[in-house]
This record gives sequence, structure tokens and C-alpha cells, in this order.
Amino acid sequence: MKVLVINAGSSSLKYQLIDMDLMEVMAKGLCERIGIDGSKLTHKNTAKGIEKVFEKEMKDHSDAISMVIDALVCPECGVISSMEEIGAVGHRVVHGSEIFADSCVIDEKVKEALNECSPLAPLHNPANIIGIEACEKIMPNVKQVAVFDTAFHQTMPAKAYMYALPYEYYEKYKIRKFGFHGTSHRFVSAEAAKMLGKSIEDLKIITCHLGNGSSVTAVDGGKCVDTSMGFTPLDGVVMGTRTGSMDPAVVTFIMENEGMTAKEVDALMNKKSGVFGVSGVSSDFRDLSKAKDEGNERAALAIDMFTYSVKKLIGSYAAAMGGVDAVVFTAGVGENDSESRKAIVDGLGFMGIKIDEELNKQRGKALDVSAADATVKTLVIPTNEELMIAIDTKRLIEG
Ligand code: ADP
Repeated sequence: MKVLVINAGSSSLKYQLIDMDLMEVMAKGLCERIGIDGSKLTHKNTAKGIEKVFEKEMKDHSDAISMVIDALVCPECGVISSMEEIGAVGHRVVHGSEIFADSCVIDEKVKEALNECSPLAPLHNPANIIGIEACEKIMPNVKQVAVFDTAFHQTMPAKAYMYALPYEYYEKYKIRKFGFHGTSHRFVSAEAAKMLGKSIEDLKIITCHLGNGSSVTAVDGGKCVDTSMGFTPLDGVVMGTRTGSMDPAVVTFIMENEGMTAKEVDALMNKKSGVFGVSGVSSDFRDLSKAKDEGNERAALAIDMFTYSVKKLIGSYAAAMGGVDAVVFTAGVGENDSESRKAIVDGLGFMGIKIDEELNKQRGKALDVSAADATVKTLVIPTNEELMIAIDTKRLIEG
């Protein structure tokens, strides 16, 4: 079966066509500036290594999907001979609230429920729904599946997901921890079990998805028991431009003293903070580490704050699970930044977490970087959310 994976944003749409028999990406691409002047589609035939840019107006997501299909069947850069070869479509959906604890085949009832989840992710869910409806219009006979960023975290116990606000706020607005990056945490924890040659049911794993946005998850027996992102992706680790956890009273203090509105302070905490805000240099860890090497103290401080915030989560999740068998690093920083990995696990030898510095210097591939005498494995595993979405799609379509 060939599965088309779609990640629709408000003005962009990423896609991959995956051959599930070979578990290989056949083609991938990105539609940009949908509904805005200057829209274009960049398509890559991965087998042949050909890239082609299609510059054509896309007034909406239906136009974008039509162009994706045209690119996939294009005689020059395409990978299939007709749309009929697409067996199913898997959509990334950001928020499934408490309704979706697993991926699901999309029907009218599911679409209604997706709309119900939209107030919890007002920037993302409506765009995901538009992507689904565009595919329904262009490919009416192809089954579609929704895969949620939040679903994996639905196994958290109430003591982990509740906030100590008056209970009515949970009842009225569903204010609670949801967690995000669930598809990535699920994928890398399953891969870790395979790498270790053990059943995931027998493992306690801490997965560190460290990218521009970062989150850490405690996976006990294959189930999420706690995660660092919260009601929104602002909570937890210090991130590229997001604060991560801090005293919530800071928000009202800044609003009062700077005369900021709720929207302004939200933008401040999401877009101008994190390692970018502290360093004043960049949100990109490559720039930060260069600045640190050149003697920039605030860049050094920002990196220290980031690695310390991850270290503390590893300690607290080991406590939450009553032990840990493996720590997994993934995503842009986790897969590539050996210095950050080293700083995060530094001093965790008392828990049996120790890395081999030479092995740790490698990057970008699945690797066991544990020291020979470590009792807890430290693994680097490239994430693959698209493949996870395709696997779920095939599972649900084929039953
Ligand atoms: P997103 O959250 O946007 O999906 P990614 O997982 O792609 O983010 O991660 C982006 C981050 O990964 C950037 O901060 C970038 O600096 C970092 N990164 C990528 N390659 C490297 C590298 N070789 N060394 C250090 N950091 C890297």
C-alpha cells in the first residue's frame, strides 16, 4: 500500500508518499504561500533525487492537493502513474483533546469531534481540518486517517495531567496537561525497544524530543505516564523561542508593569523567549554554540539553561517511574548536537546514565552511545513522524 501523509498548516502543506511494502519514502514536498501571492510547490522524487519547483497560484488547500497529485504523477519527476495508486491518506492533527486516545479513520462524526477540539489549538486544528476536507474533495474514494500529536499522552494518570486550579476550570474548559510531539515519542520509544531487543512492555524509557520545540516524556511499559509540554506546547523544557516552565505569576507581573495585553504577553513567551530571548543571538543551537565558542556569555547561559531543564526532567521522570532503562535523544538538537547530549547526561552517573564520549560524537543516525559500564542505555534515534502516521494509517485501513 502507498500512503500519502499530509501535514497541513494555515498557508503551507507538507507531504510524503510512502511505499509501505518497502517502508520507503517515494516522494516528498512542500506547498508554500497557499492563498497568498507567490505560491509554490517544491517536490522531490527521493528515489531519483530529482527536485522540481512548480510555481502556480494555489488559492486554497484543494488547489494545493491537486498540485501535489499532479507532481506525484508528473512524467518527469513523479513516482506513480495515477492517483488510484494512493491507498490511503494519513493526516497529522495537532489536538485530539480527551476525545482521541488513538488515531482513527475519518468520517463525518470524527470531523465534528475535530471541530470540537479546535478551541484548544486554534492556529493548528482548523488548518488540519481544511487539509482533510481538501483531500476528501480531490480524492473522494480514498480513506483518510487522523493521527494526533496529543493521543499518545492520553494514558497519563490524572495526578500527572491535572493542574491545581479550582476543578471547575478543568470541567468548563478542559484546562489540563495534554502534551504534544506524541507521534514522535511513540515512534522513538518503540524503536528503542527494538534496538534493545526487548519488549516495550518491560521497559521504562525517557524520550527527549529536542528541536526548536522540545518535550520530554516518561514511557512506562509503552505507555506515556508523564510529559513536559502542557495545556499548550509552551510548558516544560527551555525551547528555541518559548520560555518552558516558569512561575505563572511572572505573566501577571509583566502585564501589569509593561502594560501588555494577554495576546502580547502570549507572543512574548512563545516567540521572543527561550534560548533566543536569553542569548539575544538566535534560537538555532548551531548559532548559539558558535557564539558560545566565541565567548558570548549569554549564549553559554542559554545553552546551560536548556540542558539543565532537560536534565531535571530526566531525574524527575526516573523518580515518577521508579527507575529508567533507557534515555532516548531525538529531533534536530537531540539527534545532532552531541555537546548538548553530553551536558544533559553529565552528572547522571549516580543513576547509571553514562555516555561514551567518542560514540556520542557521531550524529544523525540510530546509535547506542552508552558507556560500557552504564546501567541505563542512552540512545540517539532519528524521529520519523511521517512514517509513524503512515504505519497507523495502514493499520487502521487494513484492520
Ligand atoms: P522543529 O521543532 O522545528 O521540528 P527540529 O527538530 O528540526 O525543529 O530542530 C531544529 C533545531 O535543531 C534547531 O535549533 C537547530 O539548531 C538544531 N540542529 C540541527 N542540526 C544541528 C546540529 N548539527 N548541531 C546542533 N543543532 C542542530
